[in-house]
Formats: sequence, C-alpha cells, structure tokens
Amino acid sequence: MASKRDFYDILGISKNASAEEVKKAYRKMAIKYHPDKNPDDHTAEEKFKEAAEAYEVLSSPEKKQRYDQFGHAGVGGASGGGGGFGGGMSMDDIFSQFGDVFGGGGGGSPFDSFFGGGGGGRSRTVAGSNIRIKLSLSLEDIRNGVEKKIKYKKLVSAPGLKTQTCATCQGRGSIRKVSNTFLGQMATTSTCPTCGGTGSTVSHRPPGSNPDGLIQTDHEVSLKIPAGVSEGMQLSMQGQGNSAPGGQGVNGDLIILISEKSHDDFVRDGKNVLYNLNISFTDAALGSSVEIPTLDGKVKIKIEPGTQPGKVLRLKGKGFTDLNGYGTGDQLIYLGVFVPEKISAEERKTLEGLANSENFKAREIKTDKTFFDRLRSFFE
Ligand SMILES: [Zn+2]
Repeated sequence: MASKRDFYDILGISKNASAEEVKKAYRKMAIKYHPDKNPDDHTAEEKFKEAAEAYEVLSSPEKKQRYDQFGHAGVGGASGGGGGFGGGMSMDDIFSQFGDVFGGGGGGSPFDSFFGGGGGGRSRTVAGSNIRIKLSLSLEDIRNGVEKKIKYKKLVSAPGLKTQTCATCQGRGSIRKVSNTFLGQMATTSTCPTCGGTGSTVSHRPPGSNPDGLIQTDHEVSLKIPAGVSEGMQLSMQGQGNSAPGGQGVNGDLIILISEKSHDDFVRDGKNVLYNLNISFTDAALGSSVEIPTLDGKVKIKIEPGTQPGKVLRLKGKGFTDLNGYGTGDQLIYLGVFVPEKISAEERKTLEGLANSENFKAREIKTDKTFFDRLRSFFE
C-alpha cells in the first residue's frame, strides 16, 4: 500500500496554521493544479485531489483534531480497502463542496464562482455570446465624432420557441447529491448537467433554429462614436450581442473594433495630423496665400516671402481631440518647394539671368529636424 503524504506537507503549512492560512494554502494549490489549467495532466489532477482531501480534513476543527491525534487512521485514510476519504471524491464534488474557497458559493462551475459569477444554489444567469465587428472610420469622422448605424447579424429566440422548467433540477439550476461516506452522509451541489444551470430546457424548437432554439436575424443599432478614437480601440454595447441559449438569460455584448481608413491627404500622428504641401518656387520666394484642406473644411494659409522647403507650419486645434482630456492636437503642414522639371527656352533665359545674382546663391538653411525624423518613421 502506498503511504499517504502528511496533510500539512501537502498544503505546505505548519501544524499551527490558522483556519485562514489553511484556506489560503489550499486556494493556492487548487489554482496551481486546476484541471482547466492542466488539461490531461494526470499528476496535476492527483495533486488537485490530494490538496482537496487535505483541506477537507484540516478545515474542519473536529477532523483536524482527530488527524492530529491519530494521523490518517483517524480520518480513515490508512484503513486500506476503499481508499482514503478524498479518494472517492469526484472533481464536481470538490468544486461544489469547496466552492467558497474560490469566492463564490456552492453551485456553478468552479471558475464561475472563481471569477465572481455563479453563486448560491439558485439557477445562474447564462449569457449569450458576444459579437465582434470591425468598423472603419475616416479621419474626418474620427476628428469630429460621428453617429454610425451598424448593421449586423445576431442570434435571437426563434418565434415559437417554448421552454419548460428543467425536469432534472426542477428549475434550481443545480443538483444536490447525498452520498454515504466513511464519515456519514455528505451533501454536494453541482451545476445541473441537463440545463447547464439555467433552470429551463427547450420544449419546442422551431424548425430552422439551432439546438439552443435561436435563429440568426438582421439587426441595426446606432452608435455615437466620440471624437478622438483610434485604431484598435474597442467600444462595447452591452446587451446587443447574441441571446442566451433558449432565450433564458442575458444577451451578450456587441463589441466594435475601431479601424482607421487611410486618407489621401493626411497622415495621423497621435493627436496631430500631418499634411504635405508643395508650393511653387515663385510662391516660396515672393510669398503667397494658399488654400489647403483640413479635417473640417478648407482654410487659407499665408506663405511668407523667402519660405524654405522643409518649413513646418502649424494650424492650432485642427488635429484630434484627446480622449483622456489632454486637449486637441494641431495640423502640421510640411512645406515642399516644387522645382520645375521642364522649362521653355524663354524661362531658361530668365533663370540664367538670375543664376549669378547674389541673392540666388544657396546658403545653409535650418530645418525642423525632429519633424523630419517623425515623418520618416511613418514611411519606414
Ligand atoms: Zn436543470
């Protein structure tokens, strides 16, 4: 017969551990060796059961005292035939019996209560699945905010769907099982396998509906998108997802993933919007007024005489609103100067006349280097 490990060793605690320490130690073990985290790992499953057995004994003052006094024999572990007390426990038993360790109470699957759901011996609320859709927005829509109608398909209860109280659990959503053990009768509660915890089952499934009695329908919602959203952001509309199985429970959510459409004129740089403007050589030299697009209409900007290529102009407040309230960005205008590629004989004569003019000799000019670096990073 294999010798049984000491319960204190299993949980890694001392004999003087408080009730709270016992619970904490068990919780740690249970999470570590949880079957959901260790699929098909027989060793982990054994360790999980072993920890449950140790907790079962050490969390009860009466059993703990017997164990302290008589060892495994005191709680039936070393009695041979039939195995130890915990050896006969199923995973379900462990979850339902010690569910409170995971933060919930009684019924429900272990990780429901672990994550704060589940609860009580009552039927639990089952949620429909979420629907995810991608929404492409223009930079104009992103800058100004927009209300969008979104068309999508979702699962709803089929007309004529009928449900009835679950015959297995009588609507409770969980089942109680009383078993005889070495220590007397023991009651355990687990999620009803027939209805999955909803407390009802489909009694009439309309033709064309899926096994949960749901059919796909076209749906439309209107969504206000705040100014300043960006690529990869998710907006969630609660309750606009698929209906729960059998129409019993709450709807899932509609999750909208924001995507930015590329723009012919602009590139977004966080809060700012970048714009490239090529002006003529004469405009650069003589100065001019040029109409340019912004994300909310056209504006006229002034080109000062003697403007150098690479100069950056800034239109305050023409960028994007920061969603976290850090103000609004600007439109940055990068100025390029167009050099004629083809010129007539007459134009050539004029330019040649200027070529040796003192003011036309090239000099060192200052450029906005940080802007160049940033711009480059977009195109690499
Ligand atoms: Zn049921």
